Amino acid sequence: MVALDAVVSLAKRRGFIYPGSEIYGGLTGFWDYGPHGAELKRNLKNEWWKAMVYGRDDVVGLDAAIIMNPKVWEASGHTKAFADPLIECKVCHKRFRADNKDILSAHEKEHKETVSWTEAKQFNLLTEVYLGVTEPKDKAYLRGEITQGVFVNFANVVASSRVKIPFGIAQIGKAFRNEITPGNFTYRSREFEQMELEYFVKPGEDKSFDYWKKERMKWYVSLGMDQKHLRFRDHEEHERAHYARFATDIEYEAPFGWSEFEGIHHRGDFDLKNHKITYEDYTPWVIETSGGVDRAALFFLLEAYHEEDKRVILKLHPLLAPIKVAVFPLVANKPQLVEKAQSIYRELKKNLVVSWDDRGNIGKRYLAQDEIGTPWCVTIDYDTLENDTVTVRDRDTTKQERVNVSKLASYFSEKL
Ligand code: ATP
Repeated sequence: MVALDAVVSLAKRRGFIYPGSEIYGGLTGFWDYGPHGAELKRNLKNEWWKAMVYGRDDVVGLDAAIIMNPKVWEASGHTKAFADPLIECKVCHKRFRADNKDILSAHEKEHKETVSWTEAKQFNLLTEVYLGVTEPKDKAYLRGEITQGVFVNFANVVASSRVKIPFGIAQIGKAFRNEITPGNFTYRSREFEQMELEYFVKPGEDKSFDYWKKERMKWYVSLGMDQKHLRFRDHEEHERAHYARFATDIEYEAPFGWSEFEGIHHRGDFDLKNHKITYEDYTPWVIETSGGVDRAALFFLLEAYHEEDKRVILKLHPLLAPIKVAVFPLVANKPQLVEKAQSIYRELKKNLVVSWDDRGNIGKRYLAQDEIGTPWCVTIDYDTLENDTVTVRDRDTTKQERVNVSKLASYFSEKL
């Protein structure tokens, strides 16, 4: 299995993910996405939106505000129940989540002296913000999950669009949690992005839960996850969130153990009842699929990372790859080649994310593109000037084939 360190180092070196505010020493739990990371995340979100909204007749999109009236969080139960148990090591005063027994026993082993722990107390994860100009300022919260924005707009969406139950509202956006122990790279961050569907059904309807479980698993596999590295894990009754009728996680076999990727929750009528929202003469039930964009980015990077003959290759699905095609003139000092290569580059750039490289030799350029997962490299050589064909080199097989310049655009669009 790939080591997490190898991916952390590649992510930094190749412009995927940097520590947040790095020049000031960083800030625990915050990360910045570089040029390739920003593309990867954007691709993930686009694919999700295509599958969950554009590809369906029963789902519409929403983009709600991050900060909402604090009454939302009181009604939803978050000001009381959105908490993790926190305990402190009395020797070194480090704080931990009390429900993670493995980490606690690892910490105990770190000490020579016997560790004793404080009593666990509930620590609320909502991040407070203060608004307004007069003191005392008004307290509000950065949203701890994007879900509530959907519920509070349920009636607006019903009134302003043609949806009828069963239907879903999809949303992608930032959420914030004051996590006690951020860690495992971006896996547990304090700022992260979620992609969620809230699917509204008639009371008593449970079959959509199984349907969405299968759909979501299929989506990850369709984008290149090996089914062997994924599994469902049903929540036991005691670990279910305060709102869930049933809940299951899709987990990935990460270097730090099986870890949650996405939660599928049957929330019953808990939320709409809390907000006193009805539809016709009843309170709908809700099935939720709640995935993390950052966890998806991390797990797809881990899944794609390969080392072969000292070559690092990111075997990302072409739809997720930050750059689809790289264009090279065979050499940089032959104006005719460079001009031809530039015109091909400009043409492909109209419809695809394409990069240009004329540094060093071709071998080095291939290695650099392999490391960021570019599926195809196009080389313009002397034959191109004779017969208008180029070589297209495939990242995974390293095979090269000659393709006519006039067919290049359709060659790539057929593969994407
Ligand atoms: P965990 O048990 O790991 O704290 P959770 O069960 O509280 O997660 P949910 O509230 O179900 O998570 O959130 C849905 C999704 O949002 C998760 O599956 C995950 O992909 C993402 N997510 C939640 N918390 C974080 C975080 N701190 N950093 C990054 N992504 C997160």
